Amino acid sequence: MVATLLSVFSVFAKNMTDPKAERTFIAIKPDGVQRGLIGDIIKRFEQKGYKLVAGKLMWAPKELLMNHYKDLADKPFYNGLVAYMASGPVFAMVWEGKAVVATGRKILGATNPLDSAPGTIRGDYCIDVGRNICHGSDAVETAQREIALWFKDDELNDYEFADKKWIYE
Ligand code: ADP
Repeated sequence: MVATLLSVFSVFAKNMTDPKAERTFIAIKPDGVQRGLIGDIIKRFEQKGYKLVAGKLMWAPKELLMNHYKDLADKPFYNGLVAYMASGPVFAMVWEGKAVVATGRKILGATNPLDSAPGTIRGDYCIDVGRNICHGSDAVETAQREIALWFKDDELNDYEFADKKWIYE
């Protein structure tokens, strides 16, 4: 009886997550993967204190990329953007933490790398807007849509972060 209760509780505890915790979708684009930057990009989010909830290397199907960028379908660079994103594997991730959507965008830097401050990923590693290394959701609602597009529910890991009490007051 006690064992049953404990096992029910442990399943509950495993899935327990802060309902206010914000999540964002971050992707290392094919140029970032090819240039060996996966480790550095993960390191920047880890060092900030954010929690990795999901991550996978995947060669994204064109349909997924067209859907992901559907709001840009009328832009002249849309076809080139989809081709670039389909040109090799992407490292897709979900990160969690306070204000991670907006802060994640700051960590990435401005869309055009020439406008990105040094110290940001795009400011440090790239030059052309069409080869800007990484993607980050631009709003909480966008993040929810993008996470659902790229990940199945059972790929998202709900767990307590050991460092939590040293990161949040
Ligand atoms: P962000 O990725 O910073 O959210 P956007 O949503 O405006 O920026 O654009 C999506 C992606 O489209 C950019 O990251 C970049 O790879 C590409 N892109 C944006 N503007 C241009 C452009 N003028 N020429 C080529 N590619 C572009």
